[in-house]
Amino acid sequence: MTHDYRVLLYYQYVPLLNAEQFAKQHLADCKALGLKGRILVADEGLNGTVSGTIEQTDAYIELMHADARFANMMFKVDEANENAFKKMHVRYRNELVNLNLEDDINPLETTGAYLTPVEFREAMLDENSVVIDARNDYEYDLGHFKDAVRPDIRNFRDLPQWIIDHKEDFMDKRVLTYCTGGIRCEKFSGWLVREGFNDVGQLHGGIATYGKDPEVQGDLWEGQMYVFDSRIAVPINKKEHIVVGKDWFDGTPCERYINCGNPECNRQMLASEENEYKYLGSCSHECRIHPNNRYIVKHQLTADEVAERLSAIEEVNV
Ligand SMILES: [Zn+2]
Repeated sequence: MTHDYRVLLYYQYVPLLNAEQFAKQHLADCKALGLKGRILVADEGLNGTVSGTIEQTDAYIELMHADARFANMMFKVDEANENAFKKMHVRYRNELVNLNLEDDINPLETTGAYLTPVEFREAMLDENSVVIDARNDYEYDLGHFKDAVRPDIRNFRDLPQWIIDHKEDFMDKRVLTYCTGGIRCEKFSGWLVREGFNDVGQLHGGIATYGKDPEVQGDLWEGQMYVFDSRIAVPINKKEHIVVGKDWFDGTPCERYINCGNPECNRQMLASEENEYKYLGSCSHECRIHPNNRYIVKHQLTADEVAERLSAIEEVNV
């Protein structure tokens, strides 16, 4: 199969003057190149995922590397058969990632030790180390490193408090952190250092880089990597594929994500096509009967059809 498209994942912490103005110009540049994607710009740097043809993405990499501020920016490159986004967005934000700290971390000053995929794999096998997944619960549930700790959070900003609540479990260990592309760990590992954890390592370039490393070949990764574009799931382990995802409704192995039909819930959950049908694409009874249920609207179900499916669900509250 030939791959005519590519997906680029990248970030750079670097002080940007007039970041808001930069964001506007950057959107114009990206549109001129014909790229699709989502980029965040802040005073502290830039974080993006874009997709396009090989020519378009090559031109983008060249454009960025010609700018002294992004001259050394690392691009994680995936081959693809189509664009991973429908539109092109560049948005200005106060910060690239939000840990909800009064005194935010500047990773250029404080951050954990950068570990290459080979070093990270080695460190994971050390019995004195603990691996903490720095992502959200729904990302972990699709795939994660073997035996990694799963913080019970739906938002990155809740991670520091979760760590504080479980501090005794990690304080005497060598702490290893990882995330999708590395950007979250830059701040999170810096925060761990500031909190007094004395041996903190982060997976440089994130899972995306780990999966491409010719030596480790994604070893010790179980499941798939959750990504924030139309692909949703990306394979990492080149040696073996173990499905760790579980269907929200019946717990059977599953790697198919849907969003709860209740627009006010919107929960990301794994579900088979059969269960999506059976449970009206919604996580709970309350969500199923929500007046604005998108699943019911999308499939133009009549009140009778909804009632029929609801009565077919033996357990009312799953
Ligand atoms: Zn729901």
